[in-house]
Amino acid sequence: VAKGAGKNQWRRYQAHLHGAMVERLELRSALDHAVHEGHFLLAYQPIIDLGTDEPVGFEALVRWHHPTRGVVAPAEFLEVAEESGLVVPMGRWVLDQALHTVAQWRRILPRAHQPFVSVNVSVRQFRDGAFVDMVEQALAYAGVPPQALMLELTESVLDGDHEPIWADLAVLRDLGVRVAIDDFAASSSALGNVRRRPIDVVKIDKAFVDGVVDDPHQLALVAGLINLAQALGLTVIAEGIEDPAHRDLLARLGCPLGQGYLYSSPVDGTEALSQMTDRLPLVA
Ligand code: C2E
Ligand code: MG
Ligand code: MG
Ligand code: MG
Repeated sequence: VAKGAGKNQWRRYQAHLHGAMVERLELRSALDHAVHEGHFLLAYQPIIDLGTDEPVGFEALVRWHHPTRGVVAPAEFLEVAEESGLVVPMGRWVLDQALHTVAQWRRILPRAHQPFVSVNVSVRQFRDGAFVDMVEQALAYAGVPPQALMLELTESVLDGDHEPIWADLAVLRDLGVRVAIDDFAASSSALGNVRRRPIDVVKIDKAFVDGVVDDPHQLALVAGLINLAQALGLTVIAEGIEDPAHRDLLARLGCPLGQGYLYSSPVDGTEALSQMTDRLPLVA
């Protein structure tokens, strides 16, 4: 009996594995289709000056516009996009679309209120060696200056051997593109490495921001991080601000910029533009 049960369990396990594999393959082929058809859209979340509460830029966040499932969040497809390499053409679409949109906004908005757009990029996008050319072409095609673009790379790029990526980022930074480290959680290796890398901005991860009000240890870490960043000439963006208490404390600690549901969830391009125009004085 025991042996029979074991065999059944094994079969069920095999069937489960098979099912998961089929699901992944299906996801991959649907994603491949989406990349070819351009079935994506971008949501924009304002990046706020914590001193004035005004938006200064927007982070572009990709969504999959699925024909039957509707709008699909990146958590559900980014892993497959990365390991299949589809993140490369998808990332190109994201960059083009984000720059096209920020170009439109900048044509409409007055000189003193020109927003930038911040685009998430995966280390995988650097692998074919054409990243710098791709960004330069996208900027030229959209007709925006490099200062209108910020690139976000996650903290993991700071550990391990990514010299070719840093070389590319140094070139883009010399042009005027800004480089941000996303989801910064101040692991000791990350802290030690920011100083010697071509970086302009660190984005403090939401997990850290959440702790500042209730946890003195987290508060001390974030305060230290803000001071360190300032000493290194870096800007700080606090991510995931949901609560006015967090906002007030971060502002008091000298954190210059922030984003989060307190201000706005990610919205479509039209809504993002109204967030900017609604704040303009009536007579320019
Ligand atoms: P991220 O770059 O750290 O983006 C912040 C995420 O937190 C976004 O989720 C945003 O909607 C969410 N968020 C913003 N404010 C709040 C808040 O106050 N509270 C909470 N709980 N969440 C908040 P989203 O849009 O689902 O994106 C998830 C991740 O997917 C992003 O994290 C980024 O790493 C990745 N991603 C998004 N777009 C792209 C892209 O175009 N290319 C690549 N390679 N990755 C992308
Ligand atoms: Mg980001
Ligand atoms: Mg982030
Ligand atoms: Mg994050």
